[in-house]
Amino acid sequence: MSEGIVYLVGAGPGDPGLMTVKGQEIVRQADVIVYDRLIPEAVLGWAKPEAEMVYVGKLPDRHTLKQEEINGLLVAKGLAGKRVCRLKGGDPFVFGRGGEEAAALAAAGVPFEVVPGVTSAIAGPAYAGIPVTHRGKASSVAFVTGHEDPGKDESAINWEGLATGVDTLVFLMGVSHLPAIVEQLVSHGREPATPAALVERGTHPSQRVVAGTLGSIVGLAEQHDVRAPALLIVGEVVDLRQTLQWFDNRPLSGWRVLVTRTREQASHLSSSLERHGATAVEVPVIAFAELDSYAVLDDCLTNADRFDWLVFTSQTGVLSVRRRLAALGLDVRALKGPRIAAIGSATAEALEEWGIRVDVVPERFVAEALGEALKAEGVVGKRVLIARAEEAREVLPEVLSEAGAEVTVAPCYRTVPSPTAGPQIRRLLEERAVDVVTFASSSSVEAFIDCVASMDVAKLLSGVMVACIGPVTAQRAREVGLTVDGEAEEYTIEGLVEALVRHAATRDAERCGGL
Ligand code: SAH
Repeated sequence: MSEGIVYLVGAGPGDPGLMTVKGQEIVRQADVIVYDRLIPEAVLGWAKPEAEMVYVGKLPDRHTLKQEEINGLLVAKGLAGKRVCRLKGGDPFVFGRGGEEAAALAAAGVPFEVVPGVTSAIAGPAYAGIPVTHRGKASSVAFVTGHEDPGKDESAINWEGLATGVDTLVFLMGVSHLPAIVEQLVSHGREPATPAALVERGTHPSQRVVAGTLGSIVGLAEQHDVRAPALLIVGEVVDLRQTLQWFDNRPLSGWRVLVTRTREQASHLSSSLERHGATAVEVPVIAFAELDSYAVLDDCLTNADRFDWLVFTSQTGVLSVRRRLAALGLDVRALKGPRIAAIGSATAEALEEWGIRVDVVPERFVAEALGEALKAEGVVGKRVLIARAEEAREVLPEVLSEAGAEVTVAPCYRTVPSPTAGPQIRRLLEERAVDVVTFASSSSVEAFIDCVASMDVAKLLSGVMVACIGPVTAQRAREVGLTVDGEAEEYTIEGLVEALVRHAATRDAERCGGL
């Protein structure tokens, strides 16, 4: 049996992009992942499918696994010859009890390595626009636990030294003891006028920051209901946020946007939303399903030479054809005959990724425009194959037939309403946990309505913005009774996000005007 090893790995403060390359590699290769609360979902998603996932964080209905039990678990897995990744939030050696785990491994003779992580104590302030040191303002910084009750007689913390001897103070785990921490600092000589800030859920899209002074911060925390995980930052550097704020003032900061696309398609929209500061909440309302029979598609693909044009109307269409060809023992060479058209840029990208140069992409990404573009190429008497979902609008086949083309429609997948989306959407809307609902296709509008069929949609959506990718989707949304507040000018994901940004700017302008 090969020798086991335990890696104590820092997973960073929340933004999955802040995990180290070395840490990521270890997560990918580990046999066992032992993880805490606050580990980003995306990071856990890198694990091998067969990896054993052991959660040792706090649960509301269960006691925390005791530290000795965690130590014991790591030792046992290491001795059993496993590659163990012990994932901890932030850095494992900054208030992470990583030192105790390393000591237990050392005592048991289990090999271990430490992979430092980006600690929240630095990243939280950084994402709030607060450098922990700054020429002329702070030459020293201390990370302090706020976990200990500062009122107790025998404090492990040298309050006097901290209050007067260190420029920037960063308290972790301090939310519940905030009033006592402030009192200790002030009574040991720190000016109540010293700038202070709280950073809640630092580096997450939902990050919140409240800034004031030592004198005002307790009141502000109550007023804004600041909750763990949060950091308290005390010192002159806090004022720099006024000029260095960059993360939580982006156009969509604080917006929670429901993404109704399928998981495969959602990532592009979600990451674009997140780049603009929003939190993307993905609840796919459509699922793709296999067809009962691929007879028509198989026949067309094995004889693709008969066609003059092959038209794709979705990314999923491209992926399905690709999979189907593979199932038939064929590859891209089977499609060398016909010219290729795509309805929009994402579909074209999926084709280009596969090595196919696209001959026609219309300027507007809707079926009507694709029909016009093909007509301009001259489709009279030409044989056109449309590879698409089983149930789709008939516009394209009709336009092309009327223009004199001989059209064959080959269904290559089915769309079905997601069986799980309804209750999830109801909960999110009831809890007012989303500000915007986005639709990237008329089929997603229909599936959304199917999912929420039994609910009072108008009531659930009151105060929630509805944004659509283009006129056809918006039209469908209006037909089913939704009020559309935003419509993309360019019918792409970027166009949709732009529409939200425009809406946010108007809303903010209205708000400022009202002040
Ligand atoms: N090892 C971790 C700290 C663990 S102690 C690190 O290096 O970051 C847990 C405390 O860390 C929380 O109570 C909170 O004060 C702080 N914390 C962790 N993640 C945070 C985040 N994203 N935003 C604000 N504070 C965070």
